[in-house]
Amino acid sequence: MLNVNTKLFAILGCPIKQSRSPIMQNNWFKEAGLNCAYTAFSVEKKDLKKVFETLKLLGFCGFNITVPHKVEIMKLLDFIDPAPKAIGSVNTILIKNGKTYGYNTDYLGIEKDFADKKISVEGKTIFIYGAGGAAKSVLYFAQKNKAKSVYISNRTHSKAISLAKQFGAKAIELKDSSAYIAESDIIINASSCGLNKGDKLPFAINSVKKGAIAYDLIYADNTALCKLAKQKKIKFFNGEGMLINQGISAFEIWTGLKPSAASAKRILRKN
Ligand code: NAP
Repeated sequence: MLNVNTKLFAILGCPIKQSRSPIMQNNWFKEAGLNCAYTAFSVEKKDLKKVFETLKLLGFCGFNITVPHKVEIMKLLDFIDPAPKAIGSVNTILIKNGKTYGYNTDYLGIEKDFADKKISVEGKTIFIYGAGGAAKSVLYFAQKNKAKSVYISNRTHSKAISLAKQFGAKAIELKDSSAYIAESDIIINASSCGLNKGDKLPFAINSVKKGAIAYDLIYADNTALCKLAKQKKIKFFNGEGMLINQGISAFEIWTGLKPSAASAKRILRKN
């Protein structure tokens, strides 16, 4: 039951209705017997600073940050971990003794999910579609884990060029994507394309390398990439593992405790 001692956490973003984090984090707080509660606030860009300062004042202990605030929030923090500094985005904040600390658990989430699935990126060729905040975490993960070549393509090509420069990848124009996909071991959708029914990725997959895999950051089956993977008969993974693992890392940062991935999977699939 909530009381005056309840420690409060929240996710801030816009839109926020699709977020699975409150279900997952509240379930873990309950399992750990912690007097904590996690909620979600829809925060428009123009209100971020005001809302953040207010929630701090009210004693909130931590936050997850999602689209479109992951970059802007960095200006409001006291300390930022080295990984989010290199990535250029923060998705988890700890408030301790009045100071704010920024982390990026999206990158930790994909790294842990690949490790769980025993997929190594070392020496591999990776094709990434998308050049938003999530793509930056994927690029950092690929770079840190010694991928051989990383290709990045995006609807707005200038953004792919800019991220390619930041992370030592090669920007590929959409019209040329198919040829680069054909030589890739791992094809990743790091864009929002596929969130809406009827979304179609703006590139084709004509041929694939033997043993190639497809990975969609979107937490749903039957995404646009999933359909292409089925057509080409290659292994497909959705973003469930990354979502759970980024949540686990955030929970560890806030509480020092390691929550259960299996119970998160159960509760997410039920709700
Ligand atoms: P973002 O910063 O808003 O970037 C969106 C990206 O998607 C941009 O590259 C954008 O292209 C592209 N895009 C959007 N709609 C498109 C469409 N209809 N056709 C083609 N391209 C489209 O978002 P983000 O933070 O990077 O998140 C991207 C996705 O990753 C979201 O679906 C999010 O749910 C997912 N995600 C999952 C996890 C997880 O734990 N599983 C973690 C983080 C994010 P333009 O640049 O041309 O606009």
